[in-house]
Order: sequence, then structure tokens, then C-alpha cells
Amino acid sequence: MRINVITYFRIYEIYFMLNKIEHIGIAIKDAKTSVELFSKLFNVQPYKTERVESENVNTIFFQVGPNKMELLEATSPDSAIAKFIEKKGEGIHHIAYDVEDIYAEMKRLKAEGFIFINEEPKAGADNKLIAFIHPKSSNGVLIELCQEKK
Ligand code: ZN
Repeated sequence: MRINVITYFRIYEIYFMLNKIEHIGIAIKDAKTSVELFSKLFNVQPYKTERVESENVNTIFFQVGPNKMELLEATSPDSAIAKFIEKKGEGIHHIAYDVEDIYAEMKRLKAEGFIFINEEPKAGADNKLIAFIHPKSSNGVLIELCQEKK
């Protein structure tokens, strides 16, 4: 959402930056088993599967009512997902928030003391620019910011 505020003939743009939860990411060991499981749970089939080379993952997306769920399967043993599962097992991996302007939001959050895993936004699945906040600076929760590529 973007609101233009006009004060004394100057225009200020105010951005409301964390718009909504964009999706929840779940780390899985095996796509075949988990797609079967979540298809039963959600009572829908995934609408999309996409390999993200930069992250060494396969992503599988489900639309559940207004919400999007992302399953993440490692495509290489040095993928962050493989390491996550090794340490913590399968389960909720991250919460992703939709943002209006990922560069501005990263700047704001860095100034607030949050630590980013990647210094610059990068290409994620589903036509997004993404950046991750390190869980050690966000109460143990891995946060993904994502902005629709324009
Ligand atoms: Zn994600």
C-alpha cells in the first residue's frame, strides 16, 4: 500500500512495508512423500513447482484459501534446507512477508539492527526478489522479505 501525503505543496511518499504474510516455508526431505501428504491435508494439488538454482532447492507451492504454502526440498547436500533438516528435522523453515520496496525495507531493518543473511536482494521462486533475516537477530525465526519483481 502506498499513500501520497501532500504537505505545503511537497509530496511525501509513505510506504507501509510489511504488507502481509506472503507464504510460509516448510522444509521437507522428499517431495513425493510430502506432496502426497500436504495434498491430502489441504485437499488441493500444488499449483507450481520451481527449482531455485541460487538456493539449491526445489520449491512446491500450494494455494490454501487466501494463503500460500511453500515446500522446500534440498537439491544438494550443501543446500541450506539440507543443513536445516540435519539440525532440526523437517518442519516450518521460514515466514515470508510481502514488501513494497525490498531495498528500502532492508535499509530500514539494517538500521534497526537486524542482520541479513544476504546483503543484497536476490532472485527467488515465483517471480520474487528475496532477502533473509538471520534468525539470531529475529528471535529464532527465519524471516524472508519478498517483493514482486516489477
Ligand atoms: Zn520462501
